[in-house]
Amino acid sequence: MAPKGDNVVVSNIKLEGVLSMKGGKGEASYANNSQAQALHARSMLHLLEETLDGVQLDSPEVPFVVVDLGCSCGSNTIYIIDVIIKHMIKRYEAMGYDPPEFSAFFSDLPSNDFNTLFQLLPPLANYGGSMEECLAANGHRSYFAAGVPGSFYRRLFPARSIDVFHSAFSLHWLSQVPEIVLDKRSTAYNKGRVFIHGASDITAIAYKKQFQADLAGFLKSRSQEMKRGGSMFLVCLGRTSVDPIDQGGAGLLFGTHFQDAWDDLVQEGLINSEKRDNFNIPVYAPSLQDFKEVVEADGSFSINKLEVFRGGSPLVVNQPDDAAEVGRALANSCRSVSGVLVDAHIGDRLSEELFSRVQRRATSHAKELLEQLQFFHIVASLSFA
Ligand code: SAH
Repeated sequence: MAPKGDNVVVSNIKLEGVLSMKGGKGEASYANNSQAQALHARSMLHLLEETLDGVQLDSPEVPFVVVDLGCSCGSNTIYIIDVIIKHMIKRYEAMGYDPPEFSAFFSDLPSNDFNTLFQLLPPLANYGGSMEECLAANGHRSYFAAGVPGSFYRRLFPARSIDVFHSAFSLHWLSQVPEIVLDKRSTAYNKGRVFIHGASDITAIAYKKQFQADLAGFLKSRSQEMKRGGSMFLVCLGRTSVDPIDQGGAGLLFGTHFQDAWDDLVQEGLINSEKRDNFNIPVYAPSLQDFKEVVEADGSFSINKLEVFRGGSPLVVNQPDDAAEVGRALANSCRSVSGVLVDAHIGDRLSEELFSRVQRRATSHAKELLEQLQFFHIVASLSFA
C-alpha cells in the first residue's frame, strides 16, 4: 500500500500541489458554497462538545493548542475554532482556573486560499488586558492564529504539541488517485468513468486501499503530534452501503450528472475518451467498517465514538420548486470542490463547458436531486491516552 516507484510519488506530489477548494468569493467559490457543511457541522456540535469534555486540562500557564485540518477558505473553520475555544474556556472557568492563552492553527494544502481565510479572521482581542476583557470584546478572537500548509497525511507539527485536532469534511479526499486506476494496462483501469461510483470491483478495491493507507498515515502522524490526554474530532463523508461502488451522496454528486457531462464532452468531440478516463475524482466515502479497521490497526487512540451520522443534503436552495436554482446549486457545489482539479485537467474554457452541462442536466433532474441527494458522515471522537 505504501507508494512504490517514482510515478506514484510524482502523482502524489502533483495532486498535493494542485488540490484546493475554489478560492476567492465568487459564485462557485467554496466560501459561497459551504452553507450545507456549516449546517451539518452545527448539527454535530453536541458530539464535538462531548469530545472536548474528554480533553485533559494542562496548567493554565501552558498555551492550549487547537488545529483545524483541511480548514479550506470559508468561514466554517473560524466558526468551529471559536466554538472549541469558548468551550475550553468554560471548562477552565468551571474548574476555577483562569483560562490559558490559546493558539489556533488553520491547516490545509499549500494551494488553499489562505489569503481569503486570513481576511475573514476577526481581529485579535487586546491581549494586554485580562481574559474577561478579551471575552467581552465581541467580534474579536481570543486566540493567536497561524496557517500551516501541508498534507495532513504526513507530519505537520512538532511532537506532543497539540491538545485538540479537528477535521471536518476533508478526510474523504485521497492523497492521490490510485495509480492503477489511471493505468490503461491495469485491470483496475476505470475506463469510461471519472469516479469510483459504479466502477468495477477491482477499481473499487484500489480506491479503498488508497483510503485506508492514507488514513493510516494520518493517524500515525497525529499520534506523534498530540499531547497525552488530547482528543480528535473527525468528520468525513461516509456511506451506508457495504459495497464501495455505491458511494451514496458522493456517488450522486460525482457519479451521475457530473459523469454524464464528461461523456457529453467526449460525444461532442470536445475531448477524447482517454482525456476523460485520465481524470478521476480522488474521493472515497468510507463505510464505518472501512474507517474502523484503520483506527483499530493503528491502535494509538481510544475510540469514544465512531458512528455514521445523517448529514442531510449538500444543496441549500431558497426555492426548491425552482429547477433552475437547484441545477445552479448542484453545479456550483460540484464546482466549488472539484473545479480546481477540472481546470487543471482540461483548462478553464472546457471546464466552463463541463459545468454548464452539469447545470443543464441537474436542472432537468431537480426534483429527484432534492429527494435523493443525502450525505452521510463518519464521525469519530478519538482520545490519545
Ligand atoms: N473543514 C472545512 C473545509 C472542508 S473542504 C469545512 O468544514 O467547511 C475539504 C478541505 O480538505 C479542502 O480545503 C482541501 O484542500 C483539504 N484537503 C484535502 N486533502 C488534504 C490533505 N491531504 N491535506 C490537507 N488538507 C487537505
